[in-house]
Amino acid sequence: MITQDDLNNLKAIAGEQFVSTGESVLDLHSHDESYHTPVLPDVVVWPHNTDEVSRVARYAFQRRIPITGWGLGTSLEGNPIPVNRGIVVDFQAMQRVLDVRPEDFQVDVEAGVVYKELNKALAEHGLFFPPDPGAAATIGGMVGNNASGIRTIKYGATKDHIALLVVVLPGGEVVRIGNRARKSSSGYDLIHLFVGSEGTLGLVTEATLKLVGLPADFMALRVTFPEVKNATDSVFQIMRSGFTPAAMEFLDSNVITVLNRDRNLAMQERPTLLMEFDGFSHEGLRAEMAYVEEICTENGSTFIDKGIGRAERDRLWETRHLTFESIKRRHPGLLPLIVDVAIPLSHYSEMVAFIKKEVNGLLAFIFGHAGDGNIHVIIMDAPADIRRWARVEEANCHIVEKALEYEGTCTGEHGIGIGKRRFLAEEHGDSLKLMKRIKRLIDPEGIFNPGKFFL
Ligand SMILES: Cc1cc2nc3c(=O)[nH]c(=O)nc-3n(C[C@H](O)[C@H](O)[C@H](O)COP(=O)(O)OP(=O)(O)OC[C@H]3O[C@@H](n4cnc5c(N)ncnc54)[C@H](O)[C@@H]3O)c2cc1C
Repeated sequence: MITQDDLNNLKAIAGEQFVSTGESVLDLHSHDESYHTPVLPDVVVWPHNTDEVSRVARYAFQRRIPITGWGLGTSLEGNPIPVNRGIVVDFQAMQRVLDVRPEDFQVDVEAGVVYKELNKALAEHGLFFPPDPGAAATIGGMVGNNASGIRTIKYGATKDHIALLVVVLPGGEVVRIGNRARKSSSGYDLIHLFVGSEGTLGLVTEATLKLVGLPADFMALRVTFPEVKNATDSVFQIMRSGFTPAAMEFLDSNVITVLNRDRNLAMQERPTLLMEFDGFSHEGLRAEMAYVEEICTENGSTFIDKGIGRAERDRLWETRHLTFESIKRRHPGLLPLIVDVAIPLSHYSEMVAFIKKEVNGLLAFIFGHAGDGNIHVIIMDAPADIRRWARVEEANCHIVEKALEYEGTCTGEHGIGIGKRRFLAEEHGDSLKLMKRIKRLIDPEGIFNPGKFFL
């Protein structure tokens, strides 16, 4: 339990107005975007730099107070919910872009920087940070969850774009891991240990990000197919032909139905692929487009909408970016359980068929990043209705088990948080014991984001 003394000591570190126990502040830091039960922290602290984070961590360690990092709380698995209460460290007062080095394709940022804002600032240098989870996420939160999104197929996930991290360990020690070279074979790969660790091993205060040149031009297609298999065969054939789509999304017919109703559109309500390609010139992209169209037509496509240039790309992709909001808006009063399995590509259409059977009778919407084997199912229901929610959980369980049967994973990008803990033993087998040993070694008191990852 936090005492007045604790509050005074935290205020001495971060400043009087950067420590709060206000009701609305605690409420805001009690939940993410998932259905998981909110838990109020005892106190929220907004540190301004690595030294303050380190001092907060040292104090929490001395007093054995739980400490949980907070970006913008857009997680989908309860990842930042402070389930054991304690201190939430919110990184909103650490939003500085410290150094842009265009010639190195690198930028140094503080953990609270929001990637969309960063990309606006980087555009003037002709550069961008590619991982794109869609929501307004911070770099710290993206590192925490190893976020990715629609562009993973071409550009990779957050883990592929981190050169260096400054991390505060439990106890307050500050470590700098990684380097600024473009490649390295030196030592254990600690970057990849911390990326995706959801704040259970350390708090990231600064990061050096690897950047990519902004593409000069874009081309996009929205293609409908009679069956899921026609769509997934097209994905495989397009990629095997040597094309590298920048994004390749699958939307099942019921998602199109929701989008039509919510946005007053008239898209064919069939399995749909949304594709984006980037490149150097209209001519090159036009040639690619003709080839991609041919593959889709050979696979029985029933409708193709297409365009070249940024405006056309934005027009064709607008609905995809609104999918989550449209589904939520059409189902007021219900909460989403979001399945996030990822599987080897060859099983994609079988997996979608399996999911359809599993969710029969539920309000479920299937879509995903088809190019990297990630499938999302949003199941809308009321967690308070115990009988119905048990059915939702059961469907989720069966879908994850099927993904593991295909040697896939329970989470492609949302992380373990609270909801996926029960699948770790099955997915990781003996290596889960190694993960637990690493956790005990780095956080012997178990105070960094407790209640996550491990059951
Ligand atoms: C509409 C919508 C769409 C989404 N689409 C995608 C998608 O396509 N792909 C995807 O990957 N995700 C997606 N997400 C999930 C979410 O946006 C990402 O997981 C994102 O990375 C979370 O960032 P955040 O700043 O909100 O972090 P938070 O949710 O605040 O925190 C995330 C985790 O990181 C920890 N953490 C936060 N800051 C730090 C830090 N400085 N150091 C160490 N740990 C820290 C937290 O404790 C928590 O465990 C979506 C979410 C929404 C609402």
